[in-house]
Amino acid sequence: MSRNYYVAANWKMHKTRSEAVSLAKELVSALKDGKHKYLIVPGFTLLESVSAVLKGTNIRLGAQNCAFEEQGAHTGEVSVLQLKDLGVQTVILGHSERRHIYHEDNALINKKLRLALSHGFEVILCVGELLEERESGKAETVCETQITEGLKGVSADELKNVVVAYEPVWAIGTGKTATPEDADAIHAYIRKVIEKLFGGAAAQKMIIQYGGSVKPDNAATLMAKENIDGALVGGASLKAESFVPIAKF
Ligand code: PEP
Repeated sequence: MSRNYYVAANWKMHKTRSEAVSLAKELVSALKDGKHKYLIVPGFTLLESVSAVLKGTNIRLGAQNCAFEEQGAHTGEVSVLQLKDLGVQTVILGHSERRHIYHEDNALINKKLRLALSHGFEVILCVGELLEERESGKAETVCETQITEGLKGVSADELKNVVVAYEPVWAIGTGKTATPEDADAIHAYIRKVIEKLFGGAAAQKMIIQYGGSVKPDNAATLMAKENIDGALVGGASLKAESFVPIAKF
């Protein structure tokens, strides 16, 4: 079954407003005839300015996180209502930096995911193992738990707005990439987990992005694999010259 490729730029905690607007403008112009689905995910303070640049284009706007409650006494958090107000369409949840630096667990990620889906957002659920988990043969089990617990309580209808990103933690920002074969094997396993939870048709439709040091010179080989349906790009998404070739692989 053919699935659309989906390429996302996660800018993490980089860029000021003027830098963000100028990169967003470059990407709008370079990707206007691009064949794939595209997403830019700037930091919260950049969302309003970037939203204005992306309006009416073929590039979606995403946020890097959201609070698990709709609104209230949550100092320092950002709510789905505030994100919607800025034109955000997609939320990344469970990124390894949220899991490992900010100690977000599967239960919290699941609360955020269900809230975001209930407000009509698309969610990119990130999963992936640590180096020691890979070396001890636990990569599949770790991803299975993160998927099963992350998607608890999600309906078949809501699942249509879920994208999974497989991001082995040891490959993020390190310059190390999973081999296309190893990545494809885990993607295939993740698809099986989705099949077990939601059935074969849903599993075939699920977009599973790969993330972890994706660069212009490795993007096409990774994307050529049967179960890799796009990329979540960090470092290489910070410049048009490195992101555009990935987005147009
Ligand atoms: C990411 O931020 O999700 C990521 C994969 O980063 P990088 O491309 O820098 O490894």
